[in-house]
This record gives sequence, structure tokens and C-alpha cells, in this order.
Amino acid sequence: MKKNDEFIIDIEDMSVDGAGIGKYEGMTFFVKDALIGDRVRVRVVKMKKTWGYARMMELLIPSPDRAEPPCPYHRQCGGCQIQALSYEKQLAFKQQKVENNLRRIGGFDEIPMEPIVGMENPFHYRNKSQYPVGTDKNGTIITGFYAGRTHQIIPNRDCALGVPVNREILDIVISYMERYHVSAYDETTGQGLVRHVLIRYGFRTDEIMVCLIINGTNLPHEKELIRELCALPGMTSVSVNVNMNQTNVILGTETRLLWGQLFITDYIGNVKYQISPVSFFQVNPVQTEVLYGLALEYADLHGTETVWDLYCGIGTISLFLARRARQVYGVEIVPRAVEDARRNAALNGIENAAFIEGKAEKELPEFYEKEAQAGRQAYADVIVVDPPRKGCDERLLRTILQMAPERIVYVSCDPATLARDLKVLCEGEYRIERVRAVDNFCQTIHVETVCLLSRENKGL
Ligand code: SAH
Repeated sequence: MKKNDEFIIDIEDMSVDGAGIGKYEGMTFFVKDALIGDRVRVRVVKMKKTWGYARMMELLIPSPDRAEPPCPYHRQCGGCQIQALSYEKQLAFKQQKVENNLRRIGGFDEIPMEPIVGMENPFHYRNKSQYPVGTDKNGTIITGFYAGRTHQIIPNRDCALGVPVNREILDIVISYMERYHVSAYDETTGQGLVRHVLIRYGFRTDEIMVCLIINGTNLPHEKELIRELCALPGMTSVSVNVNMNQTNVILGTETRLLWGQLFITDYIGNVKYQISPVSFFQVNPVQTEVLYGLALEYADLHGTETVWDLYCGIGTISLFLARRARQVYGVEIVPRAVEDARRNAALNGIENAAFIEGKAEKELPEFYEKEAQAGRQAYADVIVVDPPRKGCDERLLRTILQMAPERIVYVSCDPATLARDLKVLCEGEYRIERVRAVDNFCQTIHVETVCLLSRENKGL
């Protein structure tokens, strides 16, 4: 078997990153865009000893689980890996992914999985979109998305995950650029002005933010652009962000307001947030509310508890919990996120949430040691963690075990590291009480999970 060989295979499984898996002459092949139940003609693109990557050349017999993907670019785009799979099967895949990880990596066999929470309408859920701007071979200005793993722009103003108003905004920006000969940025030469269009939309408030990321300090004829943008109902914030570095990082450091105010407002549950162009904010607000609602339910607070929220970001979970706890401590590594968390607490009149800037695996152990030196046992009723994909640092898990809270609520965006970390906690004196996956990233392979651990030897 070698590169460019062609043959027909049946797809029998799906890899964790959404590729179809089939076997041919004892070898395993990963086929992007092929689904379980498909019969496909493939061509080998890369061969290892016992497995390889193959490209789907022809779909001979489609799987019964195929759905009509609304986006014509779903195969080229790096965004939606499983849009061609029916939503029902997407959910089943994600639920299975969480369960398999807990079984294989965590070594758990009785897993109290609750049914995954999907969306009623699994499209147009993203409150933030960043469209790269460039020029095609004919010099026409285009905007769309990067083809998977490249920086080649495929023109498309109608992303199926974004809000419909994105299209109107992009039409305005591009026609303004054409009219006034405002150039698009060229990544290879570092020349040209407009790099990206960042759009944020408040799902509860209908407020809209547009920020043009530019390779320069000024936007020519900005008044014309503003005039058209602010005619859109809900327009709240128009700004430019200056990024003159030749880099893949989208945003630069300086943001300048052109019209309105520098933030939009939105809500998660009954907590209000001010979101600036550079703020981190969960991209699917509807499902975030579901996810954090579950975290709150699992935390089972009655107003008397001391809670730690580690990896707290802008404090979304902390503020959600603070209303029902005595005191919440949030720990977060990014200084600007900590500032946002404090501002959001003040904005909501929440006074029982304090935020600590630093690494969770440093701040919590140090706090524990300091208390120990003062002859006290560091105390928490509930500890919540919501780490990035790489999961929790082992040192942090050790301190959590020493603090021995009654309950641990683990919110995870990667089931593999979740399983690894739960293993450590359950080798201590915790057991898994409840687990539930939430689909925050419909059409993609990603999944969020919330898990409740409770301490076995209560009162010891
Ligand atoms: N619950 C948060 C988001 C969590 S995402 C919210 O809803 O806003 C994970 C967060 O962990 C990010 O904000 C990231 O900046 C932060 N982080 C990453 N490594 C960290 C570390 N070692 N210690 C503390 N925070 C960290």
C-alpha cells in the first residue's frame, strides 16, 4: 500500500477528531469527511506502517446518518468537522466520546452518564465571528474563512454558525472598501490595511459590535463606513483595532472607538456582562447558560458555602455561583480576564466574589501552605474547575485532595484530560456522582462536560 493508491472501503468508526475510519487489507485508514456507514472510494495521501490517511474521492453509498449540510463549504472549511452528520448522531458521538474516555483513560466502569444536552436549533449559535479579509487572484476584495489548516481565504459571508446579521455587516464593509479603494491586508507581504472584521452579537440584548482590525492607525473615509453600519438596528459599538505586526494573532493591543461605546452588554442567566472587542466570552451563550446552570445545580449551594472557582476566566461561573454562596474565590492567569471579572462583579453588585490573578496550581497550594503555617486548614465546601484543554496541573489536584471539599464540580472542554484528572481525584476519596455532556459547539467535534464528584468519607 502506498501513496496515491485507490480503493473502496466501508467506514465503520469515527476518530476523536471526526474522521471516518475504515479498514483495507488489514490496514486502518482515516478518511476526512467520510461518515460511519458510508462506502467510499479513497486515495491514500499518507502511509504509515499499519495505518494511513486517505482522501475521499467518491461517495459511492451514503450513510443513512448523513444530513443535508446547509453550508456548501463545510468540507473545505476547518470549522465544522461533522456538519454532514445528522444532529442526533452528532450528539450520540459526543456522549460516547465522553463515556469512552472515562472508561479507557479514567478506568471507570460504572459511569452515571446523564443524557447529553443538545440545541433545538444547532446553527447560528455563535455570538462572535472573525472574518479574514483579503484579495483573490483578480484583485477583488474577499472575505470568508480559511480553508482547513491553511490561510487561503474561501469567500463566504454566510457562515452557518454565525448570526444572520454578519452578512449585512460584511456586505457594508466590503462595498465601502471597494468604493473608497481601501486595501485588504496581504499576509505574505505585510501590506494592505484591513485584516479582519470582528463581529459580536448580544443574544439577549440584540446589541451589535463591529471592530475592524487594521494594519495602520487610520481608516480612510471612516465616516462613510460608520454612517452605514450604524443604520443597522442594534448597532452599539464600532471600533478599529490596530495590529501592525506580521503575525497570526488576530488582535493588536490598541483599540480605538469610532462610534457608540466600546462594549456591548449581554447576559448569562441573570448576570450581566460588558464585552469589549478583546474580552473573552463564551461563544455559545445559550448552551453556556445550560452548562453553568448544571454546574450551579451540581454545586448545590445554600448561601453558606465557601467556593473556589479555578481557571475562572472573566468570572462567569464565579458570579453565577456567588448569588447562592457565602463567598467565592476565583483564580485566573490572564490579567485582563481578572480585570473583567472584577468589573463584572461590580456591574452586578456582587460583593462576595474575590478574584486572584495567577496560576491555579500555584495560588491554591500557596494559600493552603500559608493557612497551614498559621495553624489553620484551608477550607472549601465546593471547588469548581474549568481548565483549558490540557486539564488541571497535578499539583493543583493534590491540593484539592488536601483541602477535601465536600463536592468538586469539574467543567471540561476535553474529555481525555477530564478522565485523566478524575482518575487522580477518585484514587483519592472522591467518586463520580453525576456526569453530563453539553453540546456548546454543534457541528464540530468539540464537547463540554460537567461532572460532580463527592467525597466518600464525609465528616472524617
Ligand atoms: N469559566 C471561564 C472560562 C474558562 S476557560 C469563563 O466562563 O469565562 C479556561 C481559563 O483558564 C482561561 O480563562 C485561561 O486563561 C485560564 N487558565 C489557563 N491556564 C491557567 C492556569 N494555569 N491557572 C489559572 N488559569 C488558567
